[in-house]
Amino acid sequence: MLYSQLFPKAKKTAPKDAESANAKYLVQGGFVHQEMAGVYSWLPLGLRVLTKVENIIREEMNALGAQELLMPALQPKENWQTTKRWEGFEVLFKLKSKIGGEAALGPTHEEIITPLVGAYINSYNDLPLALYQIQNKYRDELRVKAGVLRGREFGMKDLYSFHKDEKDLEDYYERVAKSYLKIFKRCGLDAVRVRATGGAFSKFSDEFQVITPSGEDTIYYCDKCKIHYNSELVKDGKCTEGHKLEKGEKAVEVGNIFKLKTKFSDAFDLKFLDKDGKEKRVIMGCYGIGTTRLVGTIVEINHDDKGIIWPEEVVPYNMHLLALFGKDEKMVKKISTACLSFLRKQESGGVEVLFDDRTDVSAGEKFAVADLLGISERIVISEKTLANNSIEIKNRQTGKTKMEKL
Ligand SMILES: [Zn+2]
Repeated sequence: MLYSQLFPKAKKTAPKDAESANAKYLVQGGFVHQEMAGVYSWLPLGLRVLTKVENIIREEMNALGAQELLMPALQPKENWQTTKRWEGFEVLFKLKSKIGGEAALGPTHEEIITPLVGAYINSYNDLPLALYQIQNKYRDELRVKAGVLRGREFGMKDLYSFHKDEKDLEDYYERVAKSYLKIFKRCGLDAVRVRATGGAFSKFSDEFQVITPSGEDTIYYCDKCKIHYNSELVKDGKCTEGHKLEKGEKAVEVGNIFKLKTKFSDAFDLKFLDKDGKEKRVIMGCYGIGTTRLVGTIVEINHDDKGIIWPEEVVPYNMHLLALFGKDEKMVKKISTACLSFLRKQESGGVEVLFDDRTDVSAGEKFAVADLLGISERIVISEKTLANNSIEIKNRQTGKTKMEKL
């Protein structure tokens, strides 16, 4: 990809109102563009990162035996009345149609997937079943955070599992928890599993949190239980087992998993015929990861004062090639030829290269953009490197530089 062709170019200065690293660098680098409070467009560079994150999640969901589907964002009001959440779900977007009736703009999909699965499964032979999607969700949040950490429209992977008994749900739940830690690790994040309140049908749920000063949650580690607790479960500085806790740490929630048990299968009468000839309610679990929030969290954890430092698996491009042309016309031609031949060689080997081919900006400006965009491998081809028939390679993570023969 030629940087001269890329839409849009990085801005010279950061947005004035940026409160966090992700808001500052994602906007300045041209990864995202804010449309209104909590609503962003994902621009070509940002979409490349988001797609890589989504594909890591896809691979790990498929490894769990889950199948991908896509459900609608527009959801019938009746389904939300069935679960008593039309009034009860505080941040639900409600829409009136010109042809009459109302619909919800999906903040989550239990109201769709439960009756959907009910239309197709009959017996214990159809279970267990796990289905997931990656889709935008909508929540009419009163408070939105600057950047992509808490939005009113945001990307999410939601997985739903269906089981014939609680033991099967427990086993699958633990497999998902392991898979989540692997997903976050592949995204360059050390997430911790945090015990949280469970809601109506189970005592606890689990959150996955990444510790960072810009986090809006506070989590506590209990030395005796060897468990992290979220703030809802901590009373008077003690864990649920009564142990005294150390000071909490700020963290961002990147995922959560719930044992729904029969909460939704009761509401929609989702049943199956068991081996013993009896009809039973299906046992359910649900598991979310905020995909756009995950990209924001990656930036919060992986940056310095010059810009982003993308972890290897989610880089927008593998290489950022800079041509430093200088003023001599013959040399410009020579450098240009060397760059294009290097570019072709890399691309034919499957390496994704962003090539800063601009002739009207200084070397200093190209270096500043490379640091801001945060691609791990920066390659420089200049009069100096060509004098040794070489390229200069700088690693954005380590800052180390080396020369290699062209
Ligand atoms: Zn404890």
